[in-house]
Amino acid sequence: MPHGKPAGIPCVQLDDDYRCRLFGRPERPAFCASLRPSPEMCGRDRRQASDMLLSLERATAP
Ligand code: SF4
Repeated sequence: MPHGKPAGIPCVQLDDDYRCRLFGRPERPAFCASLRPSPEMCGRDRRQASDMLLSLERATAP
């Protein structure tokens, strides 16, 4: 996504199982590799992580 990933649009590298197709490969963007998960960001389960992601997307939407 050379022009950035708009809020609310899944990354084109995300597969059907919500896994990054570039994980572990040199093509993976540096900012993705530098992101470190934390309990504050991920919560206790997928639902809490999705809620936090939606909150961040709303907060950064144009
Ligand atoms: S880690 Fe980066 S490249 Fe991989 S799916 Fe997420 S946003 Fe896309």
